[in-house]
Amino acid sequence: MHLLSYEDLKLKVWDTERCCGCGACVGVCPTEALYFDEGADHPTSNDYCKVTRDSVPCAACYSACPRVEETSSDGFGEIISIFEAKSKVHVSDAQSGGVVSSILAAAFEANLIDGAIVMDVDKWSQLSQPAFVQTSDEVFKSAGSKYFWAPLLTALRDAIEDRKLRKIAVVGTPCVATAVRRIRESDVDVLSIYKNAIRLSLGLFCTEVFTNNLLYDLQTKHGIKPWEISGLDVKGKLIVKLRDQTTLEVPLKEASVSKRGGCAHCVDFTSEDADLSFGSVGASAGHTVVIVRTDVGVGFLQLAQSTGYIELKSGVDITAIAKIGGKKKGIPLETAKKTLEEHL
Ligand SMILES: Cc1cc2nc3c(=O)[nH]c(=O)nc-3n(C[C@H](O)[C@H](O)[C@H](O)COP(=O)(O)OP(=O)(O)OC[C@H]3O[C@@H](n4cnc5c(N)ncnc54)[C@H](O)[C@@H]3O)c2cc1C
Ligand code: SF4
Ligand code: SF4
Ligand code: SF4
Repeated sequence: MHLLSYEDLKLKVWDTERCCGCGACVGVCPTEALYFDEGADHPTSNDYCKVTRDSVPCAACYSACPRVEETSSDGFGEIISIFEAKSKVHVSDAQSGGVVSSILAAAFEANLIDGAIVMDVDKWSQLSQPAFVQTSDEVFKSAGSKYFWAPLLTALRDAIEDRKLRKIAVVGTPCVATAVRRIRESDVDVLSIYKNAIRLSLGLFCTEVFTNNLLYDLQTKHGIKPWEISGLDVKGKLIVKLRDQTTLEVPLKEASVSKRGGCAHCVDFTSEDADLSFGSVGASAGHTVVIVRTDVGVGFLQLAQSTGYIELKSGVDITAIAKIGGKKKGIPLETAKKTLEEHL
């Protein structure tokens, strides 16, 4: 019988340039056989795989990978409701309405989670790094979108195997949310510890992430050094916010030269596999769009609302979401809009 291993992942994902760099395979490998070389397009094996060395069944890496399955271009996933929301507490570095941070803070306060995997940024180099937060204070410090790629789910091992946490949330881009969904649905033994520990999946809208080449281009073409950057935003163009309170606007066409290769195969804009999805497009200024997708999502959202962390209202601009979401799937705007409108 053929035992699935990283070699199948290599054939199906690494060698076809479909790897989205989510880091799930690296994070769940029980023998630490997989790793990312700096800036690599996909992971590499050190050949300590228990399947290929000892013929012991595993398949954890393959079963967690979001790119081994065909992606669907139909619809926008399960949708229970769509709101726009805003944090009622001040979140200083919030990207949109500070809602993701506030939902996590409410969950920590209610002891529903004991940790969350988020993305951090080194303010000096601007390089992203997977991070792990365990208190509301740490959550608020990690607010804001990080547009430079890092393999987020490599942090799973740190969170669950090393720190022994058993109630975690994961915040991530749509490909990360798909990896989380596959782990939660899997019946592979090695994945059960991760499956049981992930209590909440918070997905962000996403059109692309950038490689560190963009930092090089910003420096050489625009004279901007990494430590001068205070944040980034993508709104039809790349907006680079600088610490001296000025901004630089870079056409997306120019920035997209540094788009990570695996993003070219991606058709999910709205994090269809998450419990709750969040974005800025379609929301009024200072607000976040929230797509509620599962009963778990309903519970965490209601908790944040009832404990005074967030306020919700209707009035999301569905056309704006349909335009970008439909384009990413290659479906007409009208079809995309109709699918979303059914849930208003
Ligand atoms: C790469 C990327 C591209 C995006 N593109 C779009 C877009 O095209 N259109 C759109 O409407 N919205 C986009 N978003 C989502 C948007 O920028 C906000 O994240 C969203 O509106 C939530 O805002 P908030 O203020 O509620 O979140 P906040 O309260 O600021 O919290 C954000 C949380 O997300 C975590 N985080 C940030 N970046 C990452 C990351 N790369 N991986 C995992 N966790 C992360 C932070 O650590 C923090 O915990 C994108 C986000 C990212 C990361
Ligand atoms: S030991 Fe398991 S997770 Fe690690 S490479 Fe082999 S099959 Fe993949
Ligand atoms: S998509 Fe994620 S799980 Fe699949 S090979 Fe790439 S890093 Fe590993
Ligand atoms: S565009 Fe797709 S593959 Fe790229 S980071 Fe976003 S969700 Fe992942």
